[in-house]
Amino acid sequence: MISNYSKEIINDIIFALDSTTIIAFIDSSGYIKYANHKFCEISKYNYGELIGEKYQIFDSTFLYGDFFYGLEDSISSGNVLKGDIKTRAKDGTFYWVNTTIIPLFNEQRKAYQYVFVQTDITDRKKTEETLQETLKELENSNKELQDIKNALDDSSIIAITDITGSITYVNDTFCEISKYDRDEFIGKDLRKINSNHHSKDFFKCLWKTVKRGEVWKGEIKNKAKDGTFYWVQSTIVPFFNKQGSPYQYVSIQHDITDKKKAEVMLLRSEKLSAIGELAAGIAHEIRNPLTTLKGFTIFLNSMESDVKKKEYYTLLLEEIERINFIVGEFMVLAKPQTIHLKRTSLIPIITKVCKFLESELNLNNVVIELVCENEDVYVECEEHMIKQVFLNFIKNAIEAMPDGGTIKIKVFINNNKVQITFIDEGKGIPEDQVKKLGEPFFTTKEKGNGLGLMVCFKIIQMHNGKIFIQSKENKGTMIDVSLPYKGLTCK
Ligand code: ADP
Ligand code: MG
Repeated sequence: MISNYSKEIINDIIFALDSTTIIAFIDSSGYIKYANHKFCEISKYNYGELIGEKYQIFDSTFLYGDFFYGLEDSISSGNVLKGDIKTRAKDGTFYWVNTTIIPLFNEQRKAYQYVFVQTDITDRKKTEETLQETLKELENSNKELQDIKNALDDSSIIAITDITGSITYVNDTFCEISKYDRDEFIGKDLRKINSNHHSKDFFKCLWKTVKRGEVWKGEIKNKAKDGTFYWVQSTIVPFFNKQGSPYQYVSIQHDITDKKKAEVMLLRSEKLSAIGELAAGIAHEIRNPLTTLKGFTIFLNSMESDVKKKEYYTLLLEEIERINFIVGEFMVLAKPQTIHLKRTSLIPIITKVCKFLESELNLNNVVIELVCENEDVYVECEEHMIKQVFLNFIKNAIEAMPDGGTIKIKVFINNNKVQITFIDEGKGIPEDQVKKLGEPFFTTKEKGNGLGLMVCFKIIQMHNGKIFIQSKENKGTMIDVSLPYKGLTCK
């Protein structure tokens, strides 16, 4: 009864196993002795085709990984082997089976047969394969992203802030241009590089734009740690979280300081030429009535005996002279400008100007020290124009030294250029105003007109020369003029 019952149970187990599991018996030489229905189904062979055939998995082309490595040793020592095997079906397609190999031993403890119990895991393996591929693709696209990031890092100035404006990242280029260390930025805001050039509204508008989730583009003037200024073309991109609100802002910038400098230069020369044209139109018109005014004022003054009234006429004459002088300065800019350059000895021009200013120099306790390599340096110029330039420089230097001092004038030949340098010990000009020198009407003097340097720049430009100004507050000013060199001694 018990044995009948056990047999029944065994049959049930076999039935249940048979209908759910892939089973095969393989002999010790690798030949298939038995294959169940499930085995036939998955391998797509019929029973007759399988029995007596060598099980494919013993064929080396189907051995995967380390599964069969040491199989015999492992099995003959009585171990059950488990693993995943990729097998080829009759139609050439592949399937994956999770396999347990159970060796059966004879009395000599030699494996005479193996039972292969397998479950189909093809779907799981396919999913795994797809996952692997996706991961690989992801890795590749990550690499691409990394490449893009590296390229961006090399070429751009980058900073990332959170929504409160606190800096979370700056790249090397950002540190380089701002001259700050990375530590000085992380966790802080960008206030320290604010140049105060832009209005509060400018930055309000910027933040409003990015907070709305839009990209902001514009030009920003920043201040580096050493106090110098730099301009950047900026693009600020907001990044969004899953809820659709910005969580960080990435700012990508490019250095446009040189472009900005060029723009300022262009603006200056445009202003100059606009004023030049205007001057051409009106200078002569003013000169004529001015001559009449001057003539009659002199005449009336000579007829007058009242001392008080004579004082008024003198004042009138002084003012007329002032207008005359300003108009004269403007006429230098008038177009078309005819300029007759002549090879001229330079040093005598300088000494003549000094002589002309002698009384003014004495009055202000200023001495001129002329240092030159050679007394016979020649340049090509229109003498009265160059005189006007030197006169303006020396006058400005005198005015910068109310308590007196020395003006050094050095003349050197350098790279086929004659370099004339005026150095004073005066009050100098603040650094941020140096770039304004030469702009029409820029003056820091109560009675100045801000035309002198503008005229100097224009004249030197007409002589194919250059002016370079350096100044330090309360130390002095150095003006370098270079003109094309035209040899030594009279030809
Ligand atoms: P003005 O002398 O009428 O003011 P300029 O064009 O000659 O006009 O000079 C413009 C400004 O440049 C001056 O007001 C002054 O601030 C500055 N400047 C020129 N030369 C010197 C100098 N040697 N030292 C200090 N400041 C100078
Ligand atoms: Mg002046």
